[in-house]
Amino acid sequence: MLNKIEHIGIAVANLSEAIPRYEILLNTPCYKTESVASENVETAFFQIGPNKIELLASTTDDGVIAKYIAKKGEGIHHIAYAVDNIYQTMKHLKENGFQLLNETPKNGADNKLICFVYPKDTNGVLMELCMERST
Ligand code: ZN
Repeated sequence: MLNKIEHIGIAVANLSEAIPRYEILLNTPCYKTESVASENVETAFFQIGPNKIELLASTTDDGVIAKYIAKKGEGIHHIAYAVDNIYQTMKHLKENGFQLLNETPKNGADNKLICFVYPKDTNGVLMELCMERST
């Protein structure tokens, strides 16, 4: 049901500083920035071969990423897995006792339907499931 790692999400304090830094680090230009209003998050994407890196910065002082950085500092925030059918995967995890952070898939960046799995249930790494949104 899980196909591959779709992207790795990195929490950054300042997106406009992090983007040029990562353009040098990854030797590729940022191909897209996108705000996710519902999450108070601004994202920037980089493509490296088949893999993506997503930088995430908070747009508000009390957003999820701001809270994360205040608690843990900048760093890997989540690993996202591409799934064929997010509804099926969510059902499967729920039936096996995993706690999901949202009951129904929600709209994420990059035209995806997403769901997060409670990090206490995943040995500390926030897990994002994502499925391409049909347009
Ligand atoms: Zn993500």
